[in-house]
Amino acid sequence: MKEFKKDLVIGTDVVGHPIYITKHVIDSEKPGKVVYVQGGIHGGEITLHMIRDIYDYLKKNIKTGKVFFIPFANPFGWGQKSYTYTVGKFNNKTGEDFNRTFGSNSQGNTSVQIAKAIIKECEDEKIDFAVDLHTAHTSFPHTISFSEEDMSFVKQSNIEYNRLCYNSEEYKTTLNYQLTKRGINNFTIECGSHDSIDKTYQKQVVEGVLNVIKNLGICDFEPELERTNQVTFSKSVSYFAECGGIVEFNFDLGERFKKGDVLYTIHPANLEEESHKKIAEFDGVIFRFAKTHIYNAFDEVMRVFRNEDLTPVK
Ligand SMILES: [Zn+2]
Repeated sequence: MKEFKKDLVIGTDVVGHPIYITKHVIDSEKPGKVVYVQGGIHGGEITLHMIRDIYDYLKKNIKTGKVFFIPFANPFGWGQKSYTYTVGKFNNKTGEDFNRTFGSNSQGNTSVQIAKAIIKECEDEKIDFAVDLHTAHTSFPHTISFSEEDMSFVKQSNIEYNRLCYNSEEYKTTLNYQLTKRGINNFTIECGSHDSIDKTYQKQVVEGVLNVIKNLGICDFEPELERTNQVTFSKSVSYFAECGGIVEFNFDLGERFKKGDVLYTIHPANLEEESHKKIAEFDGVIFRFAKTHIYNAFDEVMRVFRNEDLTPVK
C-alpha cells in the first residue's frame, strides 16, 4: 500500500501564487476497482470529518484497487465569508453555482478550469465509481442519483432517504451528471446540514460510502448500523412565507407530522396583525429548512415529504 498526494495546478492568481486543488491517493498497488471521493465543491458544506474517517479506514484496510480523494474541490468557495458565515455556494464574481461548471467546452474561468481538471482525473484514473459529498441547509443524509444504473449502489449504501433525479435539466452541468454521461457510476450524498458536525449523520455517511467500496472488492468492511428501510423520492413539497416575519418552527428535522398539525408560525412585524399558522394539509415528514428564523415574503421556509411520495426500495 502507498499513500501520496498531488497538487493539480490550473494557473496562477494575481500575486503569482498557484491556484490548485489537492488530490490524495490510497493505492493498494494491486489490480482492482478505482473510486473517487469528492467534497467541498461548495464552500461551507462540511464533509472533511467524514472524508478523513473513510481515508483512515482505507489506509489500514485496502486490499485491491485504488481510492482517491479531493476533499476541497473548490478553494474559492471556502474563502467567501460574510461575517462568520461561509457563503461558498455561488461564485461572487459570476453569480454561478460552483457545481454548475462541469462539462463546459468554454475556457470559462478558474472554476471551469478546476472542473475540467477533475473530469480529466476521473477519466485518466478510469474510475469505476464516484461519490460527491455535499450538505443541504438543515437536513439529514440522503443520496441523489441521476441514472437507474446507480440504484444498485444506492441500495448497497444503506442510506435511508434517496432522491431520484433522472434526466433533470437542473443538474446537467454538475460533476455527477457529467460522470453519468460518461458511463461512470456515481451518486451524490447530501450529508446533513451546512457548517455542522453531527456524529449520527457522520456514521451513516461514512458507512454508506464504505459499504459501496467494500462491494467493489476494495476492502472488507462490517457495518455497525442495521439495515434501514430505504425509501426513494422524486418530489418534495415546498412551503413559502406568505408574509415577511420571524418564523417559529414547531417540528424538528425528520419529524413526522399529521394533517392538521401546525408546522410553523410566522410572526409579522405589524404588531396589530395576527401571527400566521401554517397548517399541514397531509401526513408527512419534515425534510429540510434553512438555518434561520428570518424570512421575507416568498422565501422558502420548509420542505417536507408527503408520506405517499416515499416509495420503499425493493
Ligand atoms: Zn453543495
